[in-house]
Amino acid sequence: MKTDIDRKLRDFLGAKTAKTFADVLGIETVGELLRHYPRRYLKKGELTPFDELEVGDQATVSGRVKRVNVRSLDTKLEIPLAEVQKWARRKTLTKVVVTDGQNDLELAFFNQPWLANKLQPGTAALFWGEVTRFRDIMQLKGPGTEILEEEDLSEEEIERRARPFRPLYPATAKLTTATIERSIKIVLDNLEDLEDPIPELILRKERLTGLRDALQKVHLPESPQDWEIAQKRFRFEEALVMQTILAQRRAVTDALKAVPRQKQAGGLLDAFDARLPFKLTDGQEEVCDEIFADLARPHPMHRLLQGEVGSGKTVVALRAMLSVVDAGGQAVLLAPTEVLATQHHKTLTKMLGELAEQGMLGGAERATRVGLLTGSLNAASRRTAMLDAASGSAGIVVGTHALLEDKVQFADLGLVVVDEQHRFGVEQRAVLSQKSGENTPHVLVMTATPIPRTVAMTVFGDLSVSTLTELPAGRSPITSSVVPAAEKPSWLERAWQRVREEVEKGHQAYVVCPRIGDEVKGAADEEAEFAEMDSDNNGKPGRKEQRPPLSVVFIADKLAEILAGLRVEILHGRLPADVKDSVMSRFAAGEIDVLIATTVIEVGVDVPNASTMVIVDADRFGISQLHQLRGRVGRGKVPGLCLLVTDSWPDSKSRQRLEAVAATTDGFELSRIDLETRREGDVLGVAQSGRRSSLKLLSVLRDEEIILTARHVANSLISVDSELADYPVLRSYVRSTLESEATDYLEKT
Ligand code: ADP
Ligand code: MG
Repeated sequence: MKTDIDRKLRDFLGAKTAKTFADVLGIETVGELLRHYPRRYLKKGELTPFDELEVGDQATVSGRVKRVNVRSLDTKLEIPLAEVQKWARRKTLTKVVVTDGQNDLELAFFNQPWLANKLQPGTAALFWGEVTRFRDIMQLKGPGTEILEEEDLSEEEIERRARPFRPLYPATAKLTTATIERSIKIVLDNLEDLEDPIPELILRKERLTGLRDALQKVHLPESPQDWEIAQKRFRFEEALVMQTILAQRRAVTDALKAVPRQKQAGGLLDAFDARLPFKLTDGQEEVCDEIFADLARPHPMHRLLQGEVGSGKTVVALRAMLSVVDAGGQAVLLAPTEVLATQHHKTLTKMLGELAEQGMLGGAERATRVGLLTGSLNAASRRTAMLDAASGSAGIVVGTHALLEDKVQFADLGLVVVDEQHRFGVEQRAVLSQKSGENTPHVLVMTATPIPRTVAMTVFGDLSVSTLTELPAGRSPITSSVVPAAEKPSWLERAWQRVREEVEKGHQAYVVCPRIGDEVKGAADEEAEFAEMDSDNNGKPGRKEQRPPLSVVFIADKLAEILAGLRVEILHGRLPADVKDSVMSRFAAGEIDVLIATTVIEVGVDVPNASTMVIVDADRFGISQLHQLRGRVGRGKVPGLCLLVTDSWPDSKSRQRLEAVAATTDGFELSRIDLETRREGDVLGVAQSGRRSSLKLLSVLRDEEIILTARHVANSLISVDSELADYPVLRSYVRSTLESEATDYLEKT
């Protein structure tokens, strides 16, 4: 069904204007135009006749310019109109006398000499500002101005333009806010009935205003309450359309099939539990049970496991994988980098011991194999690993995300665990389904960066969420401080001294830098995507803008002398895989004292003897990234120390962020601060694409309550009427949202 919102703009506006809308704003339909909401509202005074103006009023007047002159405030001399442009940067006073035909009013503008050219005698305009008196003459000082064309001079048009709240639209020079305003009014006046996508019953229940009233209130408000009422309704509308899409999609996913993997007694899982050197925390037990329950269902699990760095997510994942292997399936663990994949492979193999030595001497009876598949394997190892995966003799395969795109085949893929990558969306799941026939594998996504519930629910395609809230007992606290290197160079010296002291005590240290520094153009850098460095300087000329971020190579060179005598090595993503491997294992074995690295060590690296971390140019990292990095120390009996070295200005936002990181180790609190300082688009992951989002007024961070209500409503609508046969208007909104590019982000994240 076609509704009003699908009608073309050119049926209402002139062909030329319609084309400008299409070219400049990509707006072609009535629906798109009516939902081009004001960016903000301009507050004006009441339209007042000249003889009723009173000092102190906020007023708007309509009049014609009688005289204009510009003076230099330095020389008090008058400046010829032809020369005013030259005075743009000097101190000037422009005086304009306007008249309503009977009375005059004076306007005074400071340092805007060019206005004299715009406001030449005879020009009609609206002026608004505070009424003052200067030497007995009524004045508006520095008023707002809006020039009126001769065709705008009808009383009605003046009234309209002088409304106390004028919408200001996202506009450009080619398509001004006045044109947008006029066009919206024409469309609104000419649309007979506007069909509302929100069902009548729900409008009443949620106390929301109807579509026509809301459009009127948002585009032509009489008061601030008006646009609040309107925005409340449009937020709900956006949430409802989005949640309806998700509810429909959920219905489709719910219909997907997965092989149920019942937990078996007496298998690998039990054998593993028996050899576990520690007791699982209550949280780990609980989360495992949630996962086992999901795995036993004939529909694919799609669950997010979030938990602090060090909260023990790996054991949870491994137990899930083992239970799938027990049930005859295979499991895959995907890591974001090769270093991590390799490390995971080692950790799992070590934890499993003889249970991972199937077919080998000393292997347990019910053993399996843990395969590793990364890009840098040599051809022979790669072939073996592929064979093991395809034959099913590897119950568990560890690899990077690239593994999904590869030609790797599995005998019976039952579970995919994705580490440190919550953006695992519909597309990747589609790839998975292709790998496993008509059955879709279960998916468990793990992250140490907590994401708000609404974001998990909406943007990340409706994940169920499990959370590990406690850290395993016996963890040592981490102390963090900011080291302001520019103001207090001695603190930096002290920091390096601390590193040496820790090493002398038998501990190890990390030094983390934001950049590699070998600058091989075009070389594939697996960290690039990972290292999000946001920067800000509170508008001040940034010190950081004066130099590139400090690099591993540079710092290694600088520390050569300071840390002389210690065993120092570097690690970054562009080193050959065997070198990375060797460095990591020697660090883990305690054969390296100080590791100077990029964010390759951000996640998963587990060396309990490492006590200290110095983060160089810490302000170049995001909050959650710093928190992740810091999680690499304090993992054993040794208390951790994290030093955040920075050149940022003392009161800058960057500095405040670092202070926040130093002040708490609560990842959830930090993630909240992080989200607050980011723009919504970054959270949604659409910032780069610059696409128009279907969410214009709704915030997935702030509007949790609205989203939950809308979700509830959408679920009940869809459960009784999955095709929305009885709600044709909502259906056509859903369709046009899906059709517009904007929803891409729902798919792609
Ligand atoms: P993360 O959640 O950051 O991935 P890990 O799974 O790497 O955390 O766990 C961190 C460390 O804690 C590992 O050395 C792991 O063996 C250990 N660990 C996990 N669970 C427990 C537990 N219940 N008791 C003691 N140590 C544990
Ligand atoms: Mg981990």
